[in-house]
This record gives sequence, C-alpha cells and structure tokens, in this order.
Amino acid sequence: MRSSDYPMIEPDEAWRRIAAALSPLPPVQVPLGEAHGLILAEEVVAREDLPPFAASAMDGYAVIAADPAPEREVIAQWEAGQSGVGTVRLGTAVRIMTGAPLPPGADAVVPFEDADERNGFVRLRTPVRTGQYVRPAGQDVAIGDSLLRAGMRLGPAEIGLLASLGHTAVSVHPRPRVAILTTGSELVPAEATPGPGQIRDSNGPALTAAVIEAGCSPLPLGPVADDAHALRAAILDGAARADMLLTSGGVSMGVKDLVKPLLAELGTIHFGRVAIKPGKPLTFALVGGVPVFGLPGFPVSSLVCFENFVRPALRLMAGHTRLWRPEVPVRLTHDLHHDAERTEFQRSVVTQREGVLWATTTGSQVSGRLKSLVGANALLRLPRGLGDFYAGDEVIAIMVERPEVERQT
Ligand code: AMP
Ligand code: MG
Repeated sequence: MRSSDYPMIEPDEAWRRIAAALSPLPPVQVPLGEAHGLILAEEVVAREDLPPFAASAMDGYAVIAADPAPEREVIAQWEAGQSGVGTVRLGTAVRIMTGAPLPPGADAVVPFEDADERNGFVRLRTPVRTGQYVRPAGQDVAIGDSLLRAGMRLGPAEIGLLASLGHTAVSVHPRPRVAILTTGSELVPAEATPGPGQIRDSNGPALTAAVIEAGCSPLPLGPVADDAHALRAAILDGAARADMLLTSGGVSMGVKDLVKPLLAELGTIHFGRVAIKPGKPLTFALVGGVPVFGLPGFPVSSLVCFENFVRPALRLMAGHTRLWRPEVPVRLTHDLHHDAERTEFQRSVVTQREGVLWATTTGSQVSGRLKSLVGANALLRLPRGLGDFYAGDEVIAIMVERPEVERQT
C-alpha cells in the first residue's frame, strides 16, 4: 500500500494555515452600478448634506408657525423639483408639495388634511408646531459625517445612500476570480455522452455554482485527463488567470493521482491531508502566490470541502470581516454512527418544532452520493473522538442555508 507523505492535521490547523497565506485582494475603484455585493475598502465621508435643502415632508401649506392670523393668503405653489418664488410673511402661506424646498420665511408645513382653502385663503384646523413636517437640510446626513465604514458590504441601502450623495465610484475589494479545473481521464463534459468507463463531470458545474453563490466569478477550465503534461499546463494557466485555483480529483493515493506532486513541483504545499470526513486528502498550496485548493474528486467531498474551507477563504479575499456560517445547537432525531478518527460533516435537514431545532441526516453519507447534499440545509459537525451519538443528543449544526418560509397567515 502507498502511504501519504503529508501529515494528517486537524481542521482548525488547516484553516489557520489557509488564513495565514491569504489577504484581501487589493482595492480597486468601480462604478457604483458594479459595486453591489462587494466590500467597501475605505471609509466614505459625506461631501454634502442630505437632504441638501430644507424640504416639505407632506403635501400642504408652508406657513409661519407663530403667525396669529385666522386665515392666510396663498401666495404661490411650490412643487417638488421647483425652487419657486416668494417669501412667506405673516398672513401668507405657500401651497407646497412633498419634496419641494421650504420657501424662505416659512418654518412649518400644515398638511392638506388639516386645512381648508377657499378663494385663495387657507384656514388651519389644528395648532401648528415650529418645524412640523419639515425635513431640515442635513437631517439624514451632514457634511463630514461618516457614511459607511470600510468592511461593509454594499447592498441596496448602501448603494442608494452613496448614489444620493453623488458618490458614483467606490473603492472596493474586487470579486475574486476562481479558476475551476476538474481532473480525471474518466470525465467527459456534462453535455457529452459518456463512453464505456466514462462519467460526466459534475464537479465542474457544481463548483461553478458554489463559486457564484459565494459572490465570486468562476472561470471553468473543463475536465483535464490524468496526464502530467496536460495537468501542469492547466494548473499554470489557472493560476495565471485567476485569484484562486480549485482542482477536483487526483489528490488521493492512486497511481494516476498527479495533482499533489504537480503542486509540489510548481509551488509550495501548505498541507496535504486533514482529519475530516469527507475530504481527508484536501490539499492547500500556493503556486506563484496564487492559492490552490486540491479538492477530492468525490462529488460530496469536493462540495463539503468547498463549504468548510474554500468559501471562508474566498470571503476573506473578498474583504469580508464575517467569514462563517451561523452555527446552532440542534437535537438529533435518530442515532448516528460517528467516525472515531476524523471530524465528520454529516449532511442534514434542520427543522424547528415547538422552539427546538431538530436534525435528521439525509440518508447514506458515503462521499460519492451527491444526493446526500440535495435538500440539506446544514452540516452537522461531529468532532472526532466523541464516539457515536444517540437520538435526542445535542450537536452543532453549521447552517448552510436559512430558507425563506411561507407566510403564516
Ligand atoms: P479521485 O479523487 O480523482 O480519485 O476521484 C474520486 C471519485 O470521484 C472517482 O470515482 C471519480 O470518478 C469521481 N470524480 C472525480 N472527479 C469527478 C468529477 N469532476 N465529477 C464527477 N465525479 C468525479
Ligand atoms: Mg481521479
């Protein structure tokens, strides 16, 4: 039997080595329209007030609150987008629409509902308070305010705020580009019809989807045969064109498992075996400074390793400060056999019943069975050395998805 040259390390140690080798991608300026989902690389300080001028918050009449006149002459009408003419003096009012600037002299707005206008004069039905229904200049944001901090993710609200203040380009960490190289002489592209002994490449499409879900740009390099020349060229190509390279397959002990020796030849291997199930042969290397994950070929192993190691690594490179999925304690609905030697990640469905989260695994957990991931919303992390588990036991679930629910009405 062949034995691995690489010592088996614990998953925490594997993550420490990955994190030590990575840093956020250097910031770039992007137009606001391309910034959604990216992480801000610098603090943004307001260059303008928001609102830029005192504006009416209602459709109604701009008045002087302390004016004792029983009725006021309506001297003008100001609509949103108009700056209008006229000054409000005692005994007068301006008909005003929401968003229009408050006319000079006025200090309050009375909504149409609280006033009666007849023959060009308006009577107020309620007492008026200074400042009512007026949005003062700078109420939301004042010049010099810190708008957004470095490290914030740009979602719709952040983008709207930047747009409202004229920030049309922002400094962000770019979206990591991830090359995906599937290896194996048995593989044909998913569109092709497999010949004898051949199978379709499912890791290519699955990892491409996982990369997109992680907010990154995939660069699929297609299946490559277990041939040292072809693989060497493909690894170098991927490392040259992307910020990270993922390979799948070829990291075990078979005679045609060429990925580890090639990564050792072309770069530095930081680890080559981890005490996890699935995913024991997971490998991490740097090739020309570019991080490379050698993922195992079994479809479940490659996706579970992606979830536990590649996804947080991509989030780190994308500038996120929060890298990890939420973890929650759950109770088992059934007994579980647990590997004594390795930390296991069992695919599971977590549901809530009467305030308690219950986990049921998705059937056979063998690493070739992609169906064990279908419909799963959690990975149960079962640390090694704890023996078997029983129905009712509490374990930790890594929530990979918090699905939307139907409205309970
Ligand atoms: P390996 O890690 O290369 O020894 O592959 C382990 C198992 O996963 C073998 O049964 C392969 O045929 C299968 N496998 C490897 N790569 C892929 C892939 N891209 N898509 C589907 N199955 C794969
Ligand atoms: Mg293979």
